[in-house]
Amino acid sequence: MISLEQNFSSSHIPDLCEDIFCQDGLLQKFLNFEYRNAQKQMAYFCAQAFEADDSLLFEAGTGVGKSLAYLIPAIISAVESKRQVFISTHTISLQEQIIKKDLPLIRKFFENCDELKKYTSFTEAILIGKSNYLCTKRLFKAIAEKSDIFNSAETQELERIVEWSTITKTGLVDELNPPPNPQVWDWVNAQSSLCTSKKCADSDCFYQAAKRAVSRADIVILNHSLVFSLMASAQSVNSETRGILFQDDLFVFDEAHLLPDIASEHFGISVSDYSIIRELHKIYNPKFKKGLLCKVKSATVYDKDSVLTAIAACEEFFNSLRKKYLLNRQTVALSAPEWADTVLCNALNNLKQILESLAMRSNDESLTAELKDVARTVVSISLSLEDAIFLSTNNFVYWLEKSGKDGNITTISSAPINVASILREKIFSKGVGVIMTSATLSLDGKSMDNFVSQVGGEIAQVQICQSPFDYAKNARMLLCSDSPDLDNNKRMSVNFLAESIFNMSSLVDGGTLVLFTNYSELKSTAEILRELLPNKKILVQGEKSRTQLMEEFKASENSLLLGTDSFWTGIDIKGKTLSLVIITRLPFSNPDHPLLAAKIDAILQANGNPFAEISLPQAIIKMRQGAGRLIRSHADKGIVAILDKRILTKAYGKDFISSLPFTKFERFCKNDIKEKLLSALNEIGFDSQI
Ligand code: SF4
Repeated sequence: MISLEQNFSSSHIPDLCEDIFCQDGLLQKFLNFEYRNAQKQMAYFCAQAFEADDSLLFEAGTGVGKSLAYLIPAIISAVESKRQVFISTHTISLQEQIIKKDLPLIRKFFENCDELKKYTSFTEAILIGKSNYLCTKRLFKAIAEKSDIFNSAETQELERIVEWSTITKTGLVDELNPPPNPQVWDWVNAQSSLCTSKKCADSDCFYQAAKRAVSRADIVILNHSLVFSLMASAQSVNSETRGILFQDDLFVFDEAHLLPDIASEHFGISVSDYSIIRELHKIYNPKFKKGLLCKVKSATVYDKDSVLTAIAACEEFFNSLRKKYLLNRQTVALSAPEWADTVLCNALNNLKQILESLAMRSNDESLTAELKDVARTVVSISLSLEDAIFLSTNNFVYWLEKSGKDGNITTISSAPINVASILREKIFSKGVGVIMTSATLSLDGKSMDNFVSQVGGEIAQVQICQSPFDYAKNARMLLCSDSPDLDNNKRMSVNFLAESIFNMSSLVDGGTLVLFTNYSELKSTAEILRELLPNKKILVQGEKSRTQLMEEFKASENSLLLGTDSFWTGIDIKGKTLSLVIITRLPFSNPDHPLLAAKIDAILQANGNPFAEISLPQAIIKMRQGAGRLIRSHADKGIVAILDKRILTKAYGKDFISSLPFTKFERFCKNDIKEKLLSALNEIGFDSQI
């Protein structure tokens, strides 16, 4: 445990934060909040990091109250130093919590407290990617040119967007329900080099209004993907400037345990047949005889044929990749350069020259800009393909992957094997205060070495505060000792899963969350459960949106929610609604995925132990996230059950057990599952259904 006395130096904002968060402090006095020592420590360290432009990695166990612990110092620091603080999250639900709950609460608190009144006027804004905004200028243009660019279904969609444009206050695509046809939205969103703000009236532009609000805000909320997209596209500050995205900014990354994976996705390439054909159809769609070239009066049949040639080359290229590499596989690593020919690159380069030549000959300024814009897109696709075909970037891994309903979309991807050097350069070396926080940055609540090396955060101060919840009194962990053998990646028996889930959830008077690692196992188990439990509400990932599933789960108090990947994290449900969490198997990632395989290879080449260095740590963090869904408040009670006997039979099982906050666990088997569950429920004073 950290000692305040040892670490604190006297300075204005950290001291003020101590007055706010201390026993009988301002937070208790004005909001009647309970005192939390860990929250006080976190607020103090955050204030220090902002003030000294230091880096801080802070693991705050569930219930520490971390969002207030970084938001209050962030707001005070922003107002005092006149520097913007960017708060980046992964999930929309956390953004909503900050915007709708935390910030209004903090403002009310400041208003009522004389010592803090001067900070009440803080301002906040959300930073969202440009392509999410409607561009009114492009909308008017699209209306005028609709007969050249849209078929009849697309024209109807355009009319729906026009109708919405008269009522929307933000111009944000999220408001459009159902979401727009992406082909049509491409023509009317703000992500275009045609955007020259000088020529548009500020009052007509949703994006400029949002940008103005962001530039004036003390606190800016955004997500990790946008941070890395802006960094990857060099739209942030240049390498010499002090600041991560903008000059002199300060940063908080919440849900920071996901940063290495999200960064990997954004610093590589991703090109699919679907995305290429979509871009080409925008230039000219031979089926409907519509597209940009229809607006260019000087465009010849030969010019349009160059698009047809590129479309044909694209189809042929990706069909041959599917036949050669993906017949019986979902993904395949690309390890030898020139694994494909460059015919498609040649067709795209030819098309780019034609577009540039048409642009040069055009007298219409706006049309010239549009032609140059698509020429740039075409050349960037061609460069990405060449990069992939020749495996040009050192320390990157390249792979092919098929997706879509029938596996009919093929994507060529690349990613850095290790993002530490990128994050070290783009975040930790920028000379500004940065905080990364989450409930699960360490593997065991003690050491954060693994996370530090993944994000290149060697210069950061590291702090860990455990959850204040009473796990000994309110929670038990049950571990299955006779589940089917899962060695060598064997599939789990869905009959065993369904029977165990049926037996356990029938006894608990509250809701059950079941976490899977595999969607087909989830679906098959759900089918059996629906027969076994005809009167129980069974909510299944994939059947409705995540938001709908969560709302129905919260409303019913006694239902079963079955989810994979995204359900292991970000679910925050208090009370009886979530009383039992069942984890179907230890969440090891698929070692066959090329990115993970490449990381394993790199560790082997350095004479390391990939299981200990990568597979096990990843699985432990995920397990901590999944099990962490159970206890969300001091009053919460419940059980976590793990149906994978490897936690008891393998040497690494003890690493999983010791990483979790449960102080008491019990083994169970098929024959005593009910007895053990009833006894655990009894021990924590929880009602059973019997
Ligand atoms: S400033 Fe850009 S986004 Fe705004 S209306 Fe003009 S072109 Fe569209």
